[in-house]
Amino acid sequence: MRLTFLGTCAGTEPMPGRLHTSVLLEIGERLYFLDAGEACSRTAYLLGYDLTRVRGIFLSHAHMDHTGGLPNLLWTIRKLHGLSSFDGRVCEPITVYTANLPAWTAVTDLLSCTEGGFGIDFELNAQRLRPGLCLDTDTLRVTAVPNTHLPADPDDGPQSFSFRIESAGASLVYSGDMGSARDLEPLLQDPADLVLVETGHHSVEDLCSWAEVNRKTIRKLGFYHHGRAILHDPAAQLRVARAVTSIPVFFANDADTVDL
Ligand SMILES: [Zn+2]
Ligand SMILES: [Zn+2]
Repeated sequence: MRLTFLGTCAGTEPMPGRLHTSVLLEIGERLYFLDAGEACSRTAYLLGYDLTRVRGIFLSHAHMDHTGGLPNLLWTIRKLHGLSSFDGRVCEPITVYTANLPAWTAVTDLLSCTEGGFGIDFELNAQRLRPGLCLDTDTLRVTAVPNTHLPADPDDGPQSFSFRIESAGASLVYSGDMGSARDLEPLLQDPADLVLVETGHHSVEDLCSWAEVNRKTIRKLGFYHHGRAILHDPAAQLRVARAVTSIPVFFANDADTVDL
C-alpha cells in the first residue's frame, strides 16, 4: 500500500504549507481516506489521484481538522463522476466509517442543498464505527479501537478511534487524535511496519519514550497532525526524537508518500 499525506497539521489556525489532517491510502486500484481535513480532495486530485476510485473514508472522530474537507471530497467525487463516462466501469459503493452519525447526517443535509440536490449515480453509505474489525476484504483489513481523545457517549458509545490497517502483508497503525499513546497498544499485539502518531496533543519526547518501550512491535514511527513544537522547529524536534528512540522516525510533510 502507498500512503500519501494530504494534510499534516493539527487543528491550528491556517499554517503555510500545511493543511489539516488527511492521509490517502492507495491499495491496488482502490483509494481510501484516513480522515478528511480541509482541502483533502483538492490536494489528492492535484497530485494526480483519480478520486472516482475512492471506496472508503475512515473518520477517526468528528473534529473539524479531521472532517472539514469531507463535504468537498464527496462533492468532488460527484463532479468527477459527472465528467467521466466511466467507459462501462461499474461504480462501486463508497462507505464512510464514522463514530458520529449525527455529524454524517449534517454533512448529507449540507450536500442536499448543493447542485442538483446532490443526486449521485453511485452508492454512498455510512457505517457506525464499533470496536473490532470494520472492513475485511481480500485486499484490506481495518480494525478500529476506541481511544481516549474523546469520552464515550453514554448512549452512543465510543466517539474517537484509532485504526490498524493490513494489506498484502503490510501493516499500519494510525492513531487519529489520542488521549495517550497507550491507547494504541491494543493495535500492537502484532508488530506494525509503520505507526503514525499524532503530535498535536503530545510532546515528541513523551511519544518517543513510549515507542522505545514498545520497540519490539514498532518497525518505523511517523509523526503527523503536528502541533506547535514541530511546526515551530522540526529539525530541533527531530534531534529530540532521535536522542530518545532507536526506532527510525520521520515527521510527515504535506504531499509526502510512503510505500509499505
Ligand atoms: Zn485533530
Ligand atoms: Zn480531535
